[in-house]
Amino acid sequence: PVTENHDAPFYKGCKNVHEEATLHPRMNATFMVLTRNSELDGVISSMKNIEQRFNRHFNYPYTFLNDEPFTEHFKQTVSKYTNSKVEFGVIAPELWDYPPTVDREWVKEVMEEQTSVVYASMPSYHKMCHFFSGTFFQHPLIQKYEWYWRLEPDVTFSCDISYDPFYYMQKHNKVYGFVIAIRELAETVPNLFRYTLAHKKKYNLNTTDMWEFFLDMSYSDTVEKLKEEQKGKSVYVLPEPPLEELDGQQYNMCHFWSNFEIARVDFFQSQAYMDYINTLEEAGGFWAERWGDAPVHSLAAGLLLSKSQVHYFRDLGYQHSTIQHCGQEYGCNCDCPYDVPEIETKDGSCTKEWARIMGGFLD
Ligand code: GDP
Ligand code: MN
Repeated sequence: PVTENHDAPFYKGCKNVHEEATLHPRMNATFMVLTRNSELDGVISSMKNIEQRFNRHFNYPYTFLNDEPFTEHFKQTVSKYTNSKVEFGVIAPELWDYPPTVDREWVKEVMEEQTSVVYASMPSYHKMCHFFSGTFFQHPLIQKYEWYWRLEPDVTFSCDISYDPFYYMQKHNKVYGFVIAIRELAETVPNLFRYTLAHKKKYNLNTTDMWEFFLDMSYSDTVEKLKEEQKGKSVYVLPEPPLEELDGQQYNMCHFWSNFEIARVDFFQSQAYMDYINTLEEAGGFWAERWGDAPVHSLAAGLLLSKSQVHYFRDLGYQHSTIQHCGQEYGCNCDCPYDVPEIETKDGSCTKEWARIMGGFLD
């Protein structure tokens, strides 16, 4: 049952989409698709879907990015699936490759050892996460926009989106929007939270009203006990900031799943965000560990935004791999897969945590 909360869907049910498309100005916004030439089929599948569900009415442009040049075949093919403007960008090595400060030999060794951590032995995956965490907003094709909507190959939106999410985010002073909140695999981010807390201290950042979303509330152990627990754990490749930094706080691994995101580009371009990224770059965790852009964006939001600036698009239906959220109760013309469980009520979901800090909407 839905009760009052401070982060309700912008609209429940179907709006008159033709009216919506003419009433409001088009925003300075783009779909951002990082992909490889080899993922063409998955890209087409996502485009067909988003065009059908949303973009044929709104015609937002697409920005395709790749660390290698797109082939003519890729460019010509994707252009057939939309009437909107389509741009293709190569990502310069400065925005994609290891930063010059990184010791490549050391990183190579460390990555090769991490065979038990999903994707951690793939340099390209680290580069992808690093790009989305620290540099995508410096790409010239993205810099000209105020908003982006991240789109991946092989995703499905299972409800119509009958209003302009960019417009409503702006109207409601939102900065960051998500559709799925789940727990990260702890072994990918053993030290991310410590560096985040160290950063919070160093910059004297006030605790936001969103911060608790990231805290394990059942955790009340002392620093002494934490030290004991974490002694000699081989996952701690990085030099450790003093454990006292933890203040008895433990990361609950909650984060916004970033393969869908609608957000302001200038949030990431801000000095405060860049300072945070610099702390993380110095720590080396994009390489020595496998920090994902999802927990990085999320913790940054937790450090720097108020909860009212973050929006849960609960009315959307969205599926990527084996995880889906179905907006059935609030969305428009939903057609959700029945064989994929709803994430909200599954183990590993952080919907309850979100509801808790928002003042509640799930019993
Ligand atoms: P997962 O969702 O965490 O399993 O990661 P994906 O493999 O789907 O990668 C996330 C996004 O980055 C997708 O849009 C991929 O197409 C893209 N991506 C990942 N690695 C690379 C890469 O090395 N080069 C390019 N151009 N795109 C990549
Ligand atoms: Mn993916």
